[in-house]
Amino acid sequence: MAKSTHFYELFQPKHYDIYLDINRETKQISGTSTITGNASESKIAIHQKYMTITAVKADGQAVPFTFDDQSEGIHIDLNQTGETTVAIDFTAPLTDSMMGIYPSYYELNGEKKQIIGTQFETTAARQAFPCVDEPEAKATFDLAIKFDEQPGETIISNMPEVKTENGVHYFDTTVRMSSYLIAFAFGDMQSKLTTTKSGVQVGVFATKAHQAKELDFALDIAKRSIEFYEDFYQTPYPLPHSWQMALPDFSAGAMENWGLVTYREAYLLIDPDNTAFDLKLRVATVVAHELAHQWFGDLVTMKWWDDLWLNESFANMMEYVAIDAIEPTWGAWDAFQSGDVPMALQRDATDGVQSVHVQVEDPAEIDALFDSAIVYAKGARMLVMVRALIGDDALRAGLKAYFAAHKYGNARGADLWSALGQASGLDVGAIMNSWLEQPGYPVVTAKVVDGQLTITQQQFFVGDGQDAGRQWQIPLNSNYDAVPTLLKDESLNLGDYQTLRQTSGEPFRLNVGNNSHFIVQYDDTLLQDILANVNALDEISQLQLLQDLRLLAEGRRISYAAVVPLLQQFADSKYTVVTSALYTVAGNLRKFVTPDSAEEEQMKAYYDQLSAQQVARLGWTPRASDDIDDELSRPTVLSAALFAHNTKAVAAAHDQFTANATDLASLPAATRPLILANEVKNYGSETLFDQLLTAYRDSTDASYKADLCAALTSTTDAALIAKLIAVFEDADTVKPQDLRAWFRGVLANSKGEQAAWDWIRNDWQWLEDTVGGDMEFTTYITVISRVFRTPERLAEFKAFFEPKINTPGLTREITMDIKVISTRVNLIKDEQTAVNAAIADAVK
Ligand SMILES: [Zn+2]
Repeated sequence: MAKSTHFYELFQPKHYDIYLDINRETKQISGTSTITGNASESKIAIHQKYMTITAVKADGQAVPFTFDDQSEGIHIDLNQTGETTVAIDFTAPLTDSMMGIYPSYYELNGEKKQIIGTQFETTAARQAFPCVDEPEAKATFDLAIKFDEQPGETIISNMPEVKTENGVHYFDTTVRMSSYLIAFAFGDMQSKLTTTKSGVQVGVFATKAHQAKELDFALDIAKRSIEFYEDFYQTPYPLPHSWQMALPDFSAGAMENWGLVTYREAYLLIDPDNTAFDLKLRVATVVAHELAHQWFGDLVTMKWWDDLWLNESFANMMEYVAIDAIEPTWGAWDAFQSGDVPMALQRDATDGVQSVHVQVEDPAEIDALFDSAIVYAKGARMLVMVRALIGDDALRAGLKAYFAAHKYGNARGADLWSALGQASGLDVGAIMNSWLEQPGYPVVTAKVVDGQLTITQQQFFVGDGQDAGRQWQIPLNSNYDAVPTLLKDESLNLGDYQTLRQTSGEPFRLNVGNNSHFIVQYDDTLLQDILANVNALDEISQLQLLQDLRLLAEGRRISYAAVVPLLQQFADSKYTVVTSALYTVAGNLRKFVTPDSAEEEQMKAYYDQLSAQQVARLGWTPRASDDIDDELSRPTVLSAALFAHNTKAVAAAHDQFTANATDLASLPAATRPLILANEVKNYGSETLFDQLLTAYRDSTDASYKADLCAALTSTTDAALIAKLIAVFEDADTVKPQDLRAWFRGVLANSKGEQAAWDWIRNDWQWLEDTVGGDMEFTTYITVISRVFRTPERLAEFKAFFEPKINTPGLTREITMDIKVISTRVNLIKDEQTAVNAAIADAVK
């Protein structure tokens, strides 16, 4: 297909006057979009989607127009160029798609209510009002909104309201901004407000179905994040207010609309009296992520969607920089190392993965760009690499210059590299291009050959991969002085190993700090040296060792059976990053055992052995002396003991359940999902199931609901599994935004796998109709690829998805997931016997 023309090239808007009349009752939007701008051609095009256009006028005169569904616009013949004002009258439906202008549903005191919100990124502003819906088409906007308003209702938007006349709410003119960042919300709301040191009003908004105290945590984080960024970026927050709004129905996690950030309720509202620490940290980093975008993304925006990574990678890094700065004891970077890093390394090892920077034109393909493991996690890792290379002083100086040069405008990746390069004196662009433009990452092999220590880079694959001879400029971060900062060539001889070893006095290591995007394969001499001194390693280095061994085993460069005997020595670590890395490896071993087999019993015994001492140390009840590592490790090790079916652990969880039976929500949030699931699995009944399902329907606490979902989907009873499948399409029970978690829960349950797989194949069309417009729609396929492990399932997966392979936005996911499943099937076939023998050996 020929490169499509961006509408911005034909017409450059300067200012919009937008009038909207929204009726919840009739589900109709009508309005006028009046756009003043410069026509560079006499025939221009304006985006619209799903609209009825009733009239188009240019400078007051009716002009001809035609629809063009393919490019989601209308073509207008102006018959002239230059400064023009185009007024477009339209009507549009208000749909439940969670895109454009849409209702969110909730209940308050038994009454069904709705709140209207917006989600325009990437290409849905064109469903709300006709516009040039491209990030480069920045303009100022005057919004005037009327709706079927009830007493006590509130409306908020990017800018403060200036007046209400005849039921129309008028908002102050925005700064120059992109259409995808426009937002508003109205309905019956509660809010809490505060002010930053510099005078920015900060607020958190939610429906009244929540307790007021649930707004406090996010309000405090939002205020302090803005104060942090104003200082770190040396650039003031550009708007009078920063509202955070929780919407009951929300397809993504959160959206950085300028001045009115919208969130899934789970990522904004926190019960301060009973929330697991990891969820608090998650909410804090999500808020900090969206607020990082207020500058990086909103003030300076990517020129086109191919540079989406510029927004997301940066915000993903800054969420950790910010939270680590404002709450240094929370271990924000530990969460990065345990979450984003393995996610990026796993996905980026599959051949066919996208590069961080991707050329893209088709709107359906733009949404498919949001591969969170790549654009967010790998991209953040790239920037962490840059930060480690140039240091914070140069980073801040570079950013300040970048914002000053491009504010209220657009930029490309090269503009950021050049700003950081000027501030640091390094050719940042040259180093980063190898990471940005190439998919995948290298494994660096370190070997002693004829007494010489040599390192070599080669692309790392999990599964078949075509070696395209890719090379990277790799920041090596070695603990040996003889090693250069960067590996720019394929291989390097570092000199006589014995001399180097004696001089340094410690085992040879690369990627110390685990901040560069590569893994290391040490030869036996070097690995044994590291393992003999493993207790001297800090926790990140231990995590890294476990993570690299796991990936090398997944990539068939070492055998999984060889990894098994190494695990026990990490089992009693007090560091949660080590415990989490350990159980990630252990979790990967579970694919080698068939459910309900003798091998699975052996695996359970192995889990029991790994977890025994930690379970004894940490127990079920939080202690006053717990530090954050203890708090985070406790559910991990207890979960291992429950998988092991340790009788004491099963009984202890049951006791906790019984003691809290009248108020299950008050169970300690960190262990609540384990206790509830244990009860369903080991003491379950239809009565309990129905009780938990009712609690799910009634609760507004997102974290409790997630726990109930995990418990309900773990049932082993076929009749109850059928009941679960039956609620998948009942939006009054399972909101479409939460359905993926339910589907994943049932699919990952060996007793529910068949039913969940049948459901998605039978009702694929319903799923596509319901959540197909969602940016994360493809992750329904990803979820399946994480579970399937047999040749039969691989064949069924192919039979179902291969015919869909040319669906826009699905091609890459289907191709990669076939590879992921077939790689797993082959690995199990080849190594199952050896792994199970190693487990039997390890169980004393
Ligand atoms: Zn983001």
